[in-house]
Amino acid sequence: MTFRSTVLHLTLLLSIVTSGCSDGNANAFFYSSTLDQRTKDEQPAVLKTLEELVNIESGTNDAIGIPEMGNYLEGRLKALGAEVTRTPATSGVVGDIIVGQFKGSGGRHILMMAHMDTVYVRGSLAKAPFRIDGDQVLGAGIADAKGGIATILHTLALLKAQSFQQFGTITVMFNTDEEKGSLGSNELIQKLAAQSDIVLSYETGFIYEGQEFFVTGTSGVAVVEARVHGKASHAGAASPTAVNSMTEAADLILRTQDLQDPQQERLFNWTSIKGGSATNIIPDLTVVSADMRYGRNEDLPLLEAALAERAQKKRLEGARIDLQVTRLIPPYNATDAARGVMNKAVAIYAEVGAKLVAANVRTGGGSDAGWAALSGKPVLENLGLPGGNQHADAGEYVLASAIPRRLYLSARLVSELGQGL
Ligand SMILES: [Zn+2]
Repeated sequence: MTFRSTVLHLTLLLSIVTSGCSDGNANAFFYSSTLDQRTKDEQPAVLKTLEELVNIESGTNDAIGIPEMGNYLEGRLKALGAEVTRTPATSGVVGDIIVGQFKGSGGRHILMMAHMDTVYVRGSLAKAPFRIDGDQVLGAGIADAKGGIATILHTLALLKAQSFQQFGTITVMFNTDEEKGSLGSNELIQKLAAQSDIVLSYETGFIYEGQEFFVTGTSGVAVVEARVHGKASHAGAASPTAVNSMTEAADLILRTQDLQDPQQERLFNWTSIKGGSATNIIPDLTVVSADMRYGRNEDLPLLEAALAERAQKKRLEGARIDLQVTRLIPPYNATDAARGVMNKAVAIYAEVGAKLVAANVRTGGGSDAGWAALSGKPVLENLGLPGGNQHADAGEYVLASAIPRRLYLSARLVSELGQGL
């Protein structure tokens, strides 16, 4: 959208909205340069929030950090006027899922979500403390997904400051176990998504070679464990009945290499192996694990069937292989409705001279957008702060300069979607 047409377009919109709605002031604000300025004024507060979030070490299942983060987020949401509920995570996952709800004067129901857990174990903060280096704001978990949490909290602060009420409900969900597939929170995510008209997910904003973009798909993630059984024996006096489980496991790894098929958006990688207790004993058990990624829900059973078929083709007589496949996060595929919202976001971003591309790309990563998408409701992912080096310890960062434009995008998007525009 070029500048001149933007102005024309904006003027038109402004007249329609102001005349139509009771809360004209709020609308004018959300179409004005005042919002642009307000998001710039908000930046120092966002940096402070990022520092506070990073300073709470919230690795998944961290019995100290996760409850501490839950308390912090509950406090922030209550201060914004939300009605907060806590739902204990299931499946043995540590912590409560924090849900805050705001009731408006009428309109659409929006779910905003981000995960509070990180991949980092306690003690990582010492190696990756909060710090600012030029345009990079660094810290453990700052991109994935603490930048998203900060964007949600400050979007709500901007909406509150403007007494914006033109929505049905805004529900905010912060879960505790996305980095482990959300096994303890996905039921609640699916329920909240089904109760909403639109789901906004605040994972790290994608940026590649300086260009920000939305992806139209994430990958489904599953983990495979293959327990390869053989028959033990002394390595020196190897009995003829010995069956080396490690040899069978090595062959299994080689005879499943073709399951990796990026063309079909299928990724398959053996990532860990355990076997053998002593160098002079032929091992009777070797356990190998693999990471499996796929683009469509219907791909998983196909992959499982192909794997089972390969596993049965044993190299060594007498070997046995027990396979276990655990589905973690399902894939997300942007629906037409979601692409419509994506295009709206691209247009809004252009209002402040910023460029976002809706790229027909599937990332190899998985996210809770996959769980939310099972509801059939439109889901938009990657609304968090653009950054990089996720999961990479000291190098993880978000862009300070992106904070105002991302707040502008988020606040405008929520205001438009709330009114059903
Ligand atoms: Zn994440």
